[in-house]
Amino acid sequence: MATTKKKPGAQQTKSASGAAKGNSQLEKFFLDSVKDIYWAEKALTKALPKMQKAATTEQLQSAIGTHIVETQEQVSRLEQVFQALGKKPQAKKCDAMDGLIKEGESIVEETEDGSMTRDVAIIMASQKIEHYEIATYGGLVQLARTMGNEEIAGILETTLEEEKETDEILTTIAESDINWEAEQEDSSGQEEEE
Ligand code: FE
Ligand code: FE
Ligand code: FE
Repeated sequence: MATTKKKPGAQQTKSASGAAKGNSQLEKFFLDSVKDIYWAEKALTKALPKMQKAATTEQLQSAIGTHIVETQEQVSRLEQVFQALGKKPQAKKCDAMDGLIKEGESIVEETEDGSMTRDVAIIMASQKIEHYEIATYGGLVQLARTMGNEEIAGILETTLEEEKETDEILTTIAESDINWEAEQEDSSGQEEEE
């Protein structure tokens, strides 16, 4: 890490609000990142029900259903984080999640309704979303800890664990049945009778 060169006569920051832990630039970055994931989670509360409806198997529909409920809780958890920071909840458009959701929507359009390939595609699109969330929350938890805010780190860690678990559940669903059944599917997209 580079050594900070102090300009002669530069003003020393001595504001009472968090000056002890110091870096206001980093604090602003943290807040902006929370606004970004807040936008993303809120967008997901609208996008996930569409994915759930488009899914073929009950197994995938139910897994997405569980995560819709969790996502709503994650939105409330972020509101707790804003509160702990003494800020009003504010969403800032997350271009990455916007793109991932759009990609998910086009995947749904490009796969046949009622096919197993549809579910394979939804799982893959969903896992890309979960991985973005895991990266975001993983970073935020570490940052909160570095800034000495265990309360916020704990709140964000609860969500991080839910995202990781969702990712694992999706992998299990794909590997247990859906990938194989999609492979058996005939070219017209119909599932073969057992
Ligand atoms: Fe989430
Ligand atoms: Fe983002
Ligand atoms: Fe998620």
